[in-house]
Order: sequence, then C-alpha cells, then structure tokens
Amino acid sequence: MKTIIIANRLPVKIERNGEEFNIIRSEGGLATGLGSLETDSDIYWVGWPGIFTDDKNEKKEITKKLHAMNFHPVFLSSDHIEKYYEGYSNSTIWPLCHYFFSFIEYRADYWEAYQEVNSLFCSEALLFIKDDDIVWVQDYQLMLLPKKIRDKKPNINIGYFHHIPFPSYELFRVLPEREEILEGLLGADLIGFHTHDYMRHFISAIYRVLNLNCNLDEVSLNNRIVHIDAFPMGINYEQYHNAPNLPEVKEKSKLLIESFGEKDIILSVDRLDYSKGILHRLNGFEQFLENNPEYHEKVSLAMIVVPSRDTVDIYAELKTHIDQLIGEINGKYSKLGWNPIYYFYQSFSFEELIAMYDIAKVALVTPVRDGMNLVAKEYLATKINKPGVLVLSEMAGAAIELSDAIIINPNDIDQIEKAILQALNMPEKEKKERLEKMQKRISKQDVKKWAKDFVNELLDIKNRNREILQKVVGKRQLNQIKKAYDDANSRLILLDYDGTLAPFVKKPEDAIPSDKVIDLLNKMSSDSKNKVVINSGRNHQILDKWFKGLDLDFAAEHGMFYKENNKWHKNLIDKIVWDEEILNIIQHAIDKTPRSFMEQKEASLVWHYRNVDVWLAELRSQQLVNALIGPCARLNLQIVPGNKVVEIKPPDFTKGSEVLRRMENHNYDFILAIGDDTTDEDMFRVLPLDGVSIKVGNFSQAAKYRIPLQSSVVPFLNNLIT
Ligand code: UDP
Repeated sequence: MKTIIIANRLPVKIERNGEEFNIIRSEGGLATGLGSLETDSDIYWVGWPGIFTDDKNEKKEITKKLHAMNFHPVFLSSDHIEKYYEGYSNSTIWPLCHYFFSFIEYRADYWEAYQEVNSLFCSEALLFIKDDDIVWVQDYQLMLLPKKIRDKKPNINIGYFHHIPFPSYELFRVLPEREEILEGLLGADLIGFHTHDYMRHFISAIYRVLNLNCNLDEVSLNNRIVHIDAFPMGINYEQYHNAPNLPEVKEKSKLLIESFGEKDIILSVDRLDYSKGILHRLNGFEQFLENNPEYHEKVSLAMIVVPSRDTVDIYAELKTHIDQLIGEINGKYSKLGWNPIYYFYQSFSFEELIAMYDIAKVALVTPVRDGMNLVAKEYLATKINKPGVLVLSEMAGAAIELSDAIIINPNDIDQIEKAILQALNMPEKEKKERLEKMQKRISKQDVKKWAKDFVNELLDIKNRNREILQKVVGKRQLNQIKKAYDDANSRLILLDYDGTLAPFVKKPEDAIPSDKVIDLLNKMSSDSKNKVVINSGRNHQILDKWFKGLDLDFAAEHGMFYKENNKWHKNLIDKIVWDEEILNIIQHAIDKTPRSFMEQKEASLVWHYRNVDVWLAELRSQQLVNALIGPCARLNLQIVPGNKVVEIKPPDFTKGSEVLRRMENHNYDFILAIGDDTTDEDMFRVLPLDGVSIKVGNFSQAAKYRIPLQSSVVPFLNNLIT
C-alpha cells in the first residue's frame, strides 16, 4: 500500500543551473505534516515541479531525478499555468471562495485549461496507483481530480482537503461549472475543510446544486458514502517553538532590536492578496495614529508583504494602492528617527521571520477572508521569550481555535484601532494567560496531528465503504441468494411496493404497477413453493385495485390490514378518530410547506413532502415531528419518519409484526424481505438469521444486502426465480 499525495506543486522546486538541474526542497507546512506521517506505507507525491520545458530529454532527466525521491512530476506549459493556475484557480475559484464576487473571471478557456490539467494529473497518477493505495488530493486547483481518478479506479480510497474557505451556497451558485466541481469533489471518500462553517456551506451546496440528500455529514451515493469533516490545519509547533533559541535567530533578533530601538513593534505578515485586508489594516493603523498622538515615536508597524501573483492585474493594482497608502501615512506622520510603518515587499527567510515574530509585541492579523491563516499560529508558537498579543480577524479560519486572541471584524476600522490600544496596554499577566492557553491548543493540534487525523478517518471510511460494497447485490451475492432460493421448498417473499417495485413518482396515485412488475409477480406467485406478499404502507383499497386478478397476499398500512386466502383482515377493531390537535398540527405544516399534503388512511395519517425543496422539507419534517411528540405520546401513537413522509399510526402493528404473524403460522425455509424505507427495516429486524433482507437505495445496518437503484429490483427478482 502506498500513500499518494497529489498537489498543484511538488514539495521541491527544480531550478536550471547551466546544463544541470538542481532540486530545492521547500519545507512548507504541508510537506512537513505529510513528511512526518507515521504510516507503514511509502509516501509518493504527484505535482508540478515548477519548471517549464518542452524538451523530451530534459523531462526524462528531471523525471528520473524526481522518481528517485518518490516524486512524480506533471509537466505544465506556461499556457497551462496562465489559464489553469492564474486563470481558473486564482481568478475564478480563489475570488469565489474568498467572497470577492466582483473579481471573479468567467472565461471558457480558463475552464478548458482547468479540465485539461486535472486530466494530466490524473493520467500521471494512474501510471502507478494500485487498488489498495490511498490517494490524498490537495486543494482547489484539483477539484475535478477525485472523480477523474474514481472513474478509472472505482475502488480506490480517495481523500480531498480544501485549504481555502468554501463559500455559502448563495455565492457558490454563481459559478457556471458548479455541478462539475461538486461532482468532481464527490469522487472522494472523505472531503476535509478547516472549519465547520466551510463544511456546512459545502453540504448546503450539495443539497441545492446536486439535489443530493446529506445525512448530517455524509452523502450516500450508489455504492459508497462520502464523508465530510472539519480538520483545522496546524503548524509544525516544535519547529517554531524552538526556533527563537537558534543562534542565527538570536543574532537576527539582536540586530532588529538595535535598528528599531526602543519602539514597540506591531507586526503583520501576508502574501500580497486582496483577501488579506491589507488596506483596511493600514486605514485602521492610520486612525490609531491620528487619534492617539501619544504613541507617536513609540510604536511602529512592521508590514511584511510577500510578493505573490503580481503579474495578475488585480494584484498589481493592490500593490500600487498599498505602496501609495503607506507612502501617504509615512509622509504625514514620520519624524526624524521614527517611521510609523516599516514596509518590506519581499520574502523573508525562516530565521528572519522568526526574529520578527520574536521581537514583535503585537501581531496584527486581519484578513477579510482566510481559509486558516498559519501566520497567527506561527507567531504564537514563537513567543517563548516575551509574551505577545495576537489581534485576529474573525474571518480567518484560525479564529475558531484561537478565541483567546483579540478578535475583531477586519472591516471595522474602529475595532482595529481599539484592538491595537488594547493590545499595547494589556497587562503582562493577561498576555501570558491568553498566550499559554492558545499555545497549549496549537501545540496539540499541530500539522502532524492534522495529517494523521485525516488519514485515519480516510482509512475508516475505506473500511465502511468496503462493507457497503460487499453488501451490494452483485453476481456473487446473487448466486448466494439464488442457491438458498433453489434449495428451498417453502418460501416467503415479502415485497415493499413504493420505492421497491415502483419508482418514486411526483404524485403517489401515479405509481401504478408496470407490466414488467405484473409479469414478475405472476411468475413468482405461480410457483407453488412461493408465498408472495406485498407488504406496503398503502391502503388496502388501492392494493386491491392495482393487483386485481393476481394470486398474491397483502399487508396494507404497515401491517394494520392483511389479506390471506383472498380475504382481508383488520388488526384494529375500532375505527380511529383522529385527534383535532394532531390534525391541526399537520394542517399547519401543510400551510407552511408548499407542495406538501396529507393522506388520511383508515389507520394512519401521512404527511407527504416528496416534492418539497430538500432543505425546507428537512426543517419542516423535524418541526412537525417535534410538535407531534407531545400529543402522540399522550394518545399512544407512533411517529414514523419515512422516505419523504412522516406517518402517525398506532404502535401495535408494523411491517415487522406482519412478518412475525406469518412466520408463526407457517414454517418457511426461505424468507426474503426487500424494501427501501425506514418502515421496511421493521421487516429486516425480525427475519430469522438465515433470512435474506435487502435494502433498496441507501445503506442500512439492518439489512444483509443492498440494491442501490430501484430500477435494478425487478431484474434482480427475475434473475432469482429463473
Ligand atoms: N512566509 C514565508 N515567507 C515570508 C513570510 C511568510 O514563507 O517571507 C510563510 C509563513 O511562515 C506562513 C505562510 O507563508 O507559513 C503563509 O501562510 P498563511 O496561512 O498565513 O497564508 P497563505 O499565504 O497560505 O494565504
């Protein structure tokens, strides 16, 4: 078994050095976290090596060098990088996921390149993926990849982690390719986000765009489930925590203190990006200077902006605005020997950055949107000499874990000013207490744990999906059931109707049995060894009407009525008079829920919501169940939430009680029960150990087997009896 990480970039960079190629390791958080993964399996990477070449021999040479390190390069052209990376990834998906609606670029050529590059990654990975490997796809550049791999390798275990925010449905819906993107992601078994909010937004998009039902954090597909969860990414805590004691860092810290003098340093560190709220922060800092002249010459902002994507117009414009604003502020407030802002538009080495973290009294981390923000965590981990204060935007994923920071809304300039004042004046004891709490947390939730938690959960789902797959009725399972069927002399065959023999249709009265179903039932019941029972929630009048002339037995209204030897029997003697309060509660649900309706059977009341928007349906059905609990308990009635229905009935009789009654009256050596609904599980649960229970549709713990699609039920039964 291998673990294969697929990311836009390999954790190394190839650089040309004359005729040679140098391999430079990049020790980013992801590479460290995954590098330290304690697994028995070898770790492989697939990704772009960061170099352009069309030369076959060069590609060969680079590939050979990288293969020796378990790295598999995907060679991309500059056109790919322009359209797939800077284009669709960074000019369409990035602004979409960071709520910069007006920056989103919709271009067909970007989308085409994105699909093409995702296919290239897929082809490279398929060259060496084996069925028992684990594949872990990283981030928004590769959202189509899970499905692409799944299509070729249906049984492989695939995880996906989204490192940036996932926007709310109302924003996500603007994306023309929203379906393809979501379907691409659902190729994975496990989809991870930094926070529960992103996870919630994703689930809501699944509901609304794909109309798929989610069971809390799981989506059921035909033969597997997709699990969705939050895994807040951490940093390599030890590395940062120990770094201020490194001699070269100490040296750098000393130099910094000498050059900044006695001033208190407020530090900000970002990549150049509009999501980082750099202009808001500068405005906040200017207001602080304007309103609090007593801090002039005592406090400076050290602003590190790491160059990024500055060939893209929006980024170049942002850079110009930052330069201008800093120029204006410094021009207005600077004094001899004091600059309000020290501006560094450059990348810092690890040691330089640690020295900056070390000497800074305050870290001002105020993105307007940020998937996580590692700078905030790195700053905290590094504070071993003197406690520092973190001011953190509530829009950063990190704010969920770092609640002991000073949390602010980055769009509120007043709050930025107040937070700076609070941070500068915070008593040492409070600083220490807050810092220790946060350090404790991030030291536990480090990047190694993040990677380990994700992979462990992925393996769990692999096992669950294997179990689900094993239950699916395929050739092997059919042969098993068929053998038991052929060997038997007296068989009881219990068939649910709606969702099992007939598909789910918009109007319940339209679910008339097809000719194929009638033909099947005729064949089945003509075998004298078979007792065929339609065990349905429908009323007995409709069953009689639809199956007229067939030699079948029935149970109607979930075991309330049954037909045997051509005669109907009623289990309940008294006619139910429905309580006014219950009727009113259901009527209220109907009034509040367009396209829902009530069906009144002799022994039950049913609220149907099959044509209602999924989200509203879930809300209203839960509200209805809550409202019904009291009156139903008082009147000894059972509430049964089923497939797009909530049913209220006396508790004494169920589809299961009907099965028990029949088993008591006759000795069968083969019993098969098949159904799609929660009420059918009552049948499954009472079957003898060798009984054959088959769930149609979603996975069920109670059933031995599963047929994912209703349309496969009749063919299965035909196969069984021939
Ligand atoms: N960083 C860096 N060089 C610098 C400044 C920062 O490598 O000169 C690193 C920093 O240590 C952090 C990362 O860049 O690990 C930024 O991660 P973050 O999650 O804060 O923001 P992102 O850039 O991923 O949006």
